[in-house]
Amino acid sequence: MIPEDHPRYAALVVRERLADAMRAGIVAPEGLIAQGRGEAFDYLLGERTTASAARAETDAAAMLLAARRPVISVNGNTAALSAHQLADLQEASGALVEVNLFHRTEERMHKITALLEEHGVDVLSGVPERLIPLSHDRALCLPDGIGAADLVLVPLEDGDRCAALRQMGKAVIAVDLNPLSRTAQTATLPVIDEVRRAVPAIAAACRTMTPAAARERACGVDGKRYLKEAIAAIAARLEEMGHALE
Ligand code: ATP
Ligand code: MG
Repeated sequence: MIPEDHPRYAALVVRERLADAMRAGIVAPEGLIAQGRGEAFDYLLGERTTASAARAETDAAAMLLAARRPVISVNGNTAALSAHQLADLQEASGALVEVNLFHRTEERMHKITALLEEHGVDVLSGVPERLIPLSHDRALCLPDGIGAADLVLVPLEDGDRCAALRQMGKAVIAVDLNPLSRTAQTATLPVIDEVRRAVPAIAAACRTMTPAAARERACGVDGKRYLKEAIAAIAARLEEMGHALE
């Protein structure tokens, strides 16, 4: 039992949820390490959605609504953290949802699909093919899903796969707390925010945007600017904290 008055209560509850999901075979052990890296950057960003990230979330909604065939690529961490929020985002954006794993086994694919479906997500199924220019099983995706997508939303992705999707000519939206990661740096649009804050914000923005407004906004997306703004936000916060000690 985590005491509710613990100063890091919220973070500890999330850790417990991910550890349970790992024991249930949904999250890979490596996924816990990825969460730790994310937590560290969230600390540096002040554990809040910055004004810059909020703008990126509205851009993400515009890109999803303007896309011809948008697909949300879900891994174990994202499913464990945000299954119910993904059902809402799917409804608001009309995007397809495909399970796509770095540490891929049939058992994990099945468990993650079942978890998402329990929370109301409509999960794509089919026979995967090696369509992404990567070695090993990370190349696998569904021909009617990520294979045919013009836009892929990849919460918590690895940099190589993000770059490979870009190489295939697809637009990529990444949700990643680390503005220095290759994922954030290679995405068309990096959303530098915690996934449980980002997904509902993108869904809410989808619900308030007309198709014409989405198309116009999607044309002007400047991903690099969000990287610079996140790095500046971290630098400003560190400086402030340093001054507070004087
Ligand atoms: P690369 O440089 O190839 O992108 P990486 O350093 O990002 O690699 P990964 O294994 O892809 O390493 O780590 C997962 C990424 O996901 C980390 O950058 C981390 O900041 C981010 N992350 C982890 N948990 C969350 C979360 N809950 N919300 C948002 N981002 C997260
Ligand atoms: Mg990454």
